[in-house]
Amino acid sequence: MSRARTADIQNPLLADWKTAFGLPPFGTIKSEQFRPAFDRALAAHRAEIDAVAADAAAPTFGNTIEALERGGRELDRVSNVFFVLAGADTSDAIEAVEREISPLLARHNNAFYLNRTLYARIADLFARRDSLGLNAEQARVLERYHTRFVRAGAALDKAAQDRLAALNERLASLGTQFGQNVLADEKGYALILEEADLTGLPDFARAAARAAAEERGHEGKYAITLARSSCETFLQFSSRRDLREKIFQAWIKRGENGGATDNRALIAEMVSLRAERAKLLGFETFADYRLDDQMAKTPANARKLLDEVWTRARAKARAERDALQTVVAEEGGNFALAPWDWRYYAEKLRKARYDLDEAEIKPYFQLDKMVEAAFETARRLFGLTFMPVNVSLYHPDARAYEVKDASGRHVALFVGDYFARPSKHSGAWMTSLRDQEKLAGEVTPIVLNVCNFTKPAAGEPALLSFDDARTLFHEFGHALHGMLSNVTYPLIAGTAVPSDFVELPSQLYEHWLEVPEILEKYARHAKTGAPMPKPLLGRLLATRTYGQGFATVEYTACALVDLDLHGLAKADGLDVADFEKRDLERIDMPAEIVMRHRLPHFQHLFSGGGYAAGYYSYMWSEVLDADAFEAFEETGNAFDPATAKRLRDYIYGAGNLRDPAEAYTAFRGRLPAVDALLKKRGLIDTAA
Ligand SMILES: [Zn+2]
Repeated sequence: MSRARTADIQNPLLADWKTAFGLPPFGTIKSEQFRPAFDRALAAHRAEIDAVAADAAAPTFGNTIEALERGGRELDRVSNVFFVLAGADTSDAIEAVEREISPLLARHNNAFYLNRTLYARIADLFARRDSLGLNAEQARVLERYHTRFVRAGAALDKAAQDRLAALNERLASLGTQFGQNVLADEKGYALILEEADLTGLPDFARAAARAAAEERGHEGKYAITLARSSCETFLQFSSRRDLREKIFQAWIKRGENGGATDNRALIAEMVSLRAERAKLLGFETFADYRLDDQMAKTPANARKLLDEVWTRARAKARAERDALQTVVAEEGGNFALAPWDWRYYAEKLRKARYDLDEAEIKPYFQLDKMVEAAFETARRLFGLTFMPVNVSLYHPDARAYEVKDASGRHVALFVGDYFARPSKHSGAWMTSLRDQEKLAGEVTPIVLNVCNFTKPAAGEPALLSFDDARTLFHEFGHALHGMLSNVTYPLIAGTAVPSDFVELPSQLYEHWLEVPEILEKYARHAKTGAPMPKPLLGRLLATRTYGQGFATVEYTACALVDLDLHGLAKADGLDVADFEKRDLERIDMPAEIVMRHRLPHFQHLFSGGGYAAGYYSYMWSEVLDADAFEAFEETGNAFDPATAKRLRDYIYGAGNLRDPAEAYTAFRGRLPAVDALLKKRGLIDTAA
């Protein structure tokens, strides 16, 4: 025993962190310390849960719900550190722990949510909820506990529970493997080029490709990788049709290359297990189960929105295709536009139509300036200030800022980790090392934004595309949702809201990037410091709805295929490739456009499964964000203080205090209509 105790004491994950802001002491943490730390934290949480369940006293809100809310702190700490690293700076050792730990965490969750004694206490409280003298937040937390336990299967018989537990563990392992396979395919590929192969590429793209090659040990050469910012830029600018095809094929084949990293069999199994799980819980399909506790409530409601958008988007995309095909013909090209041609000719046409090319815009979008712009927006809306602080993080590229409110009170620590690297999973996300709550005193959050922007060569400024800048604002909107959280109970803090509501704070925030006073101030040329010339800015904003047919089709196809796949009542023996192909035929997908995420690398659905039967959420939230921004526009002030206050009170600061429809209505005075979204994407004739 004494040896184990010594190990505990020496394990920095289990020590009290006497660091600035209570950050984990990253410099002293070793990957082999995670497993013992998880073991101890899991055991500690188990003991806490057992004590609540075994309490001889009759259930009260305090001895049951609050006691559960106080538990599991050590596990939260260890998990938060671990999953930040597993996403943003992983290694073979971390990946091995992740494979080991994911079924253990699933088992732990099962034991919690399938604990019948515990559920009996919660059900008893829920039945007496009106006579418990609870405040509104407590009532919401109790309702959430009850719903979560029921949805997890707490009320089912033992045999059904055993099967559910097995399904959950298996699904957790498969999800981990899925994400690791995608990362392996991405790490394992780079298109190594010579200078002569770079025709069409602007300077920033050449510099990034040179840096990527260097990082992979190919000095003096150029590498195009499967990171979205690397290969999309190449597809946009390279005049080498053969190379465009090559990188595009590699990109869309991630997770579908045969061998150990092929994800097709994993998907088939996951979809089948999810369908079985939904049945056990009394639902026809997984999609029905999943949406029952979302703002959309039913797949039919989600589909109604998607269908309305789809028909219009496809028509617009076909018109875009015809215009691009004309450019091909004008250049004397004798081929039908292929998926790897779309971005290249779209960029050409954009340049011709709006006298605007990405290479001309890009020097005006410096990463550092865009970070400042996101901060300035938060200052003007919510009175927040951001001061860089020098603290030790897990990677030298990550930077930290202390966040204070107008009165100088510490609100949060914000970490921005912006550059792509081989140890980072693809995509962009917000995560946290600590969440806001008041149950254990005033606990302030530590929130991270992790992105995959191209790292510049040494001495060069980091430049973003306009899309990258939008991603930065998007993730920062999520970050604010976490940082402004102002609730008592951890269960409902920050972003712990339904996934078709969670994209509202992020997508809404994107609107402020396009507010002229923000762009005028922060879109500054990297070399000269000059603001973006007014005509260029005007032309940039005029292109807002350019290419929206393509973008909407690329996205909506994914959302429809997701709902169809998870709408299968039975999925045994599913042929994933065949399903994807047939479903795209069914919805009449334009041949020149490929899903934004094909199933074999669709991490939203299969890497953890947070968005399984939930990819429609982005569109659902967009109905909300387009309508919500109109609330500011109607006042004639993009920073209108009264509207900003309601936004903070009911959305950014409110966590899951209220049902989403209720929260939105409190902010806006009514529920949203779809028109603002269609207008924003240029999918209806606004002149009509
Ligand atoms: Zn998001």
